[in-house]
Amino acid sequence: MDINYSAEELAFRDQVREFLRAELPADIAERVRLGKHLGKDDHQRWQRILNTRGWYAANWPVEFGGTGWSVVQKHIFEEECAAFGAPRLISFGVNMVAPVIIKFGSAEQKAHYLPRILDGSDWWCQGYSEPGAGSDLSSLKTRAVREGDHYVVNGQKTWTTLGQHANWIFCLVRTDPQAQQQRGISFLLIDMASPGISVRPIITLDGEHEVNEVFFDNVRVPVGNLVGEENQGWTCAKYLLTHERTGQAGIGISKAALAHLKQVAAREGRLADPLLRAQIAEVEMQLLAIEVSTLRILAAAQAGGVPGAESSILKIKGSEIRQAISHLLRKVIGPCALPFLEDELAPAFAGAPLHGDYCAGPASQYFNLRKLSIYGGSNEIQKNIISKMILDL
Ligand SMILES: Cc1cc2nc3c(=O)[nH]c(=O)nc-3n(C[C@H](O)[C@H](O)[C@H](O)COP(=O)(O)OP(=O)(O)OC[C@H]3O[C@@H](n4cnc5c(N)ncnc54)[C@H](O)[C@@H]3O)c2cc1C
Repeated sequence: MDINYSAEELAFRDQVREFLRAELPADIAERVRLGKHLGKDDHQRWQRILNTRGWYAANWPVEFGGTGWSVVQKHIFEEECAAFGAPRLISFGVNMVAPVIIKFGSAEQKAHYLPRILDGSDWWCQGYSEPGAGSDLSSLKTRAVREGDHYVVNGQKTWTTLGQHANWIFCLVRTDPQAQQQRGISFLLIDMASPGISVRPIITLDGEHEVNEVFFDNVRVPVGNLVGEENQGWTCAKYLLTHERTGQAGIGISKAALAHLKQVAAREGRLADPLLRAQIAEVEMQLLAIEVSTLRILAAAQAGGVPGAESSILKIKGSEIRQAISHLLRKVIGPCALPFLEDELAPAFAGAPLHGDYCAGPASQYFNLRKLSIYGGSNEIQKNIISKMILDL
């Protein structure tokens, strides 16, 4: 196994850096650097730039508009994007529903949905979780009953990230209540403009509107919107979750956050504190270790291996490291760590470079980042997966 970049990979990295230097809008990069909220427009602007370059759908096969990059190239791309402050891609369309459509969808579904994901015509959200079905997802109750050429859908989804922006939702619905839990589930694509759908915001602890509840009241969905076969949706669901977990270690993002933490700590004169220095060193060592592990796993995948429990290990460690960095940043910035103070504090710090540019961002980011160990399968669930696979229980 060789985890060093080859000459070609280094040349590719230069190409990516050149592109980011030229094309990444400075205002977006600045907001990312400060941990501030990005709007739908920011995400769409960056998506269009990537799509124009042909680099938006890195994980798709070339025939559908993908890049054909190796796993190492994808790793380099993600790392450089994070270092330059590019926004993380909203994955519901490009990296979640698209792989499912490519793998299980009909020719018509591929021809219709994939180009619309690439050019940003559609914004997708994920309708998996329900009030009584999170970790135990297969106990979901949203019901779809076949009536002629339509399914009639009734039920509720929750934690629907950015559902307020979405015009499409991919949903797991129960089509056979008699079958064993995982067998009676189907994977449906639903137009959010359908009569009977309502979206209610959930305002989280950081004051943001990021997640929603989505209600379905006799929503009629054409049978042509079923992906794969009826009652075989669990296969799609599992396939999608593998894609969701891929890359969740977020090495590039953590590296950028660590660099920012060190910069801020130096500016605040906090690096003289031996305890803080030790804590930063500890998290940096963990990050380096997980980066090497990621490269090892990628090298094995490139050689034809399939990541199993390893992706769960990366998800746990990656989210813990990202959370630890945000915890340290919160400690370093003192009063600016208080939430919701942007409006009050920013004028007072105007012209004071030490605090003025990072009020509020890190505080709300601290709260927001707690989600990392919950979504995409909580860290406890990942530990169950690891124990099953490694301890062979
Ligand atoms: C910010 C955010 C965004 C999200 N976005 C989406 C989205 O867009 N679409 C979507 O469908 N879902 C989304 N989710 C939902 C997410 O996938 C679920 O929250 C997650 O699967 C956990 O389910 P739950 O919240 O019902 O918790 P529960 O499953 O009730 O778990 C509660 C606690 O018990 C632990 N636990 C549960 N079962 C076990 C077990 N067997 N062994 C050990 N510990 C266990 C869990 O780890 C957790 O700590 C989002 C969640 C958050 C927080």
